[in-house]
Amino acid sequence: MKEFELIEYYFRNKGQKRRDVELSIGDDCALVCPADNKSIAISCDTLVENVHFLADIPAHALGYKSLAVNLSDLAAMGAEPAWFTLALTLPSVDEPWLASFSEGLFEIAEYYAIALIGGDTTRGPRSISITINGQVIKGTALTRAGAKNGDWIYVTGTLGDSALGLDILRGAKTVKTEDKEFLINRHYYPTPRVLAGQALRSLATSAIDLSDGLMSDIRHVLKASKVGAIIDVNQIPLSASLKANLSREDALSYALTGGEDYELLFTVPESQRGAIDTALIHAGVKFVKIGQICAGDKLKLIDDGKPFVPVSRSFEHF
Ligand code: ADP
Ligand code: MG
Repeated sequence: MKEFELIEYYFRNKGQKRRDVELSIGDDCALVCPADNKSIAISCDTLVENVHFLADIPAHALGYKSLAVNLSDLAAMGAEPAWFTLALTLPSVDEPWLASFSEGLFEIAEYYAIALIGGDTTRGPRSISITINGQVIKGTALTRAGAKNGDWIYVTGTLGDSALGLDILRGAKTVKTEDKEFLINRHYYPTPRVLAGQALRSLATSAIDLSDGLMSDIRHVLKASKVGAIIDVNQIPLSASLKANLSREDALSYALTGGEDYELLFTVPESQRGAIDTALIHAGVKFVKIGQICAGDKLKLIDDGKPFVPVSRSFEHF
């Protein structure tokens, strides 16, 4: 199968058609027509085999996840996803693999009504690079830089599940049979908080998506906003599956330092606290207050008033 056939079979004329796409796959460039009064939000994420995903990841999950992680960046800015390009590097043409990859990719693309408008296909070690474009009304995008002393800190969803899912897949942890699928799916199929991000636009002072782990990602907000933070580890949202399989210390360690949750962390002034409840109910996502922004530049973790130090995550080999 030649490159153009591969594109034709698995990527062209698939998924969402959008009226703002003037010219899609097939020419030297795609042409899109952004709406008036909107800024274009652009982000790129690359997933490399054995660095960002295990070689045996199901192709469907990889297709889904490659786009989900990019959508998560748009969510963190409060942008509405619109178009994306796909740079695909593969060691060989494996048609069942491509069919399944394309299915996973377009499943999430259709859900968010976004269009694949171009890309590049090359031979080499397996990697997937997606550039996503979204739109946001000028001047309203959420950034990492707006958190103010006194703002409350919130996160969506539950934290740590994806990192535990990865450790199950690696054979580094075992969990109860009834929790295994949930945890692995949290790793393979993260839910980008796209609607929540848009709902937060006029309410939150800053936002970031949690890709590397809470403790590492919140520092980007603190640095950009020139503030410090206090987090109460008792408020960190943990799933029933995480709690059922780990000690409290281990569960908090996964939640604070585990990556790839793709939940949102955001800050809200006291004056907007009530409005957040109403706004996020419509986005259908759970969220919880975990701490407060303070003066300075430090991140402090507290547990019943005492300083808290997360344990380093241990691996169980068997
Ligand atoms: P060029 O040589 O100009 O880079 P290509 O032959 O690489 O053109 O691509 C032909 C068309 O197919 C272009 O419109 C390009 O955007 C699109 N395309 C290539 N690879 C992919 C892909 N993996 N997914 C979607 N579109 C692709
Ligand atoms: Mg090309």
